[in-house]
Order: sequence, then C-alpha cells, then structure tokens
Amino acid sequence: MIKIHPIPAFNDNYIWIIHNQHQAVVVDPGDALPVLRYLDDNNLQLVTILITHHHNDHVGGNAALLEKFSVPVYGPGNESIATLTHRISEGAEIQINELSLSLRVLDTPGHTAGHIVYYGTINENSVLFCGDTLFVCGCGRIFEGTALQMYASLQKLMSLPDTTQVYSTHEYTLGNINFSRTVDPNNTSLENLEIKMKELRHRGIPTLPSSIATEKANNPFLRCDQPEIISSVSNHVDQALSEPVEVFAALRQWKNTF
Ligand SMILES: [Zn+2]
Repeated sequence: MIKIHPIPAFNDNYIWIIHNQHQAVVVDPGDALPVLRYLDDNNLQLVTILITHHHNDHVGGNAALLEKFSVPVYGPGNESIATLTHRISEGAEIQINELSLSLRVLDTPGHTAGHIVYYGTINENSVLFCGDTLFVCGCGRIFEGTALQMYASLQKLMSLPDTTQVYSTHEYTLGNINFSRTVDPNNTSLENLEIKMKELRHRGIPTLPSSIATEKANNPFLRCDQPEIISSVSNHVDQALSEPVEVFAALRQWKNTF
C-alpha cells in the first residue's frame, strides 16, 4: 500500500510525499527541513524528487536534500532549475521502480512558462500532482504565460477521468471558495462544499486532495462556458463576454484584485 501524505511548509504549502513505508518520493520540496524530519521520523529513504515549476517555494529544498540523498530530480525542461538531473516535458513517462510507480508528464504552461504536472495511478486511483496550476476552486496566477495558455492547460486537466484525485501544492481553499461564491452565488454544490471545507479547516485537516469531478462542479475557472459564470463575469466587467477564454481572462483578473 502506498501512502500520499502532505508535509506542511511555509504558510500554506504542502509538499506531497509518496511512500511505501520504506522508500519515498517528494513533489516540490520548497523547504528541506520538514521533509528531512518526516523522512527521519518515519525511517524513509528518499529515492526521487519531482518538480512542477521553478518557483523557490517548490524547489528551494532540493540542494539540501541532495546533500543527504543522491537521487534523480525530474523537472520542466525549459525552466532554469540548477538542481535538475532529468529535464522533461509532455509525453515523458517516469518509472520509479522502488515504488512500482509510473507517472506521465503533461505540459501546463500559464503560471510559469514551463510548468508541468504528473499524472498516474496509485493504489488503483488516478492521481494528479498539479503544482500551482489547479487549486480547489481556483487556479494559479498567470505570471509567465498567457490567459489562453492557462485556459488550455486547465482544459487539459479537465479531460482526465472525473475520479482523478487532485494534489495541489497550496491550502488556498477557503479564500478561493469565498471568491467562487461571489462569482457563482446560486451554485448549491459550492455552498455545500464550503460547509464541508470550513469544517475540515476548523479541525486543522488539509482540504486536499480534491477531484476533477469536484472541481468541474465548483471551480469557476473550469466553468467559463456556463451561462451563470459568463453572466456574472460580464456584469463585473460591464461588457458582454461570450468566448469562454475571454471569460476566463476577465475572471482571473477579477480574482487578482478581489
Ligand atoms: Zn508557483
């Protein structure tokens, strides 16, 4: 049985660790210290590091982890990350033999120009490690790409099976739901999700993983072709929008100043 565990880091990051009680893979170790502590406490040996994009809160722990463990570091081929040993992009298949794990790489530019995500099957569930591309009821800020790129990246993730478990790297859920409820006030599914997520946070429990089905039903950034989102965003910008990608661009802009 493989376990997927969130190691909290900084204010609101999660460093996901995938392990079989002996060997472990970490995704986006922005800080080495909590990872080393978790490995030590659980008698785990690090065997692989996976990176989604170059931001320091995702790669900052690589050097210190590599001092202790000489392991492969996979990451986006067209981003400048000094500690990578394997530069990869869409179509790559990563085999992690220690965990009998195979992960497929997808390109999801937008948050950064070379952002990638990892998709595979763990314990018979589809799983997605999506970095800062998709959050519960939100998506990453568009720092380096265009709105069109980010929109296409999110559409690509939406094409994965509905049951896919979504492992994002930040606990942004309650803030995102607050914004989503403003955009989409009559969505009863979203209303119910808010109750559930507030309860989890109240008890100090991470709101992740989400699922593709949950995001399709609640995340306004994935619902830019729905009449209620189109109308709400059009009202906000005081302009009749119709193309989903225009709606998406205006919605992302709205969130930036919310
Ligand atoms: Zn980032």
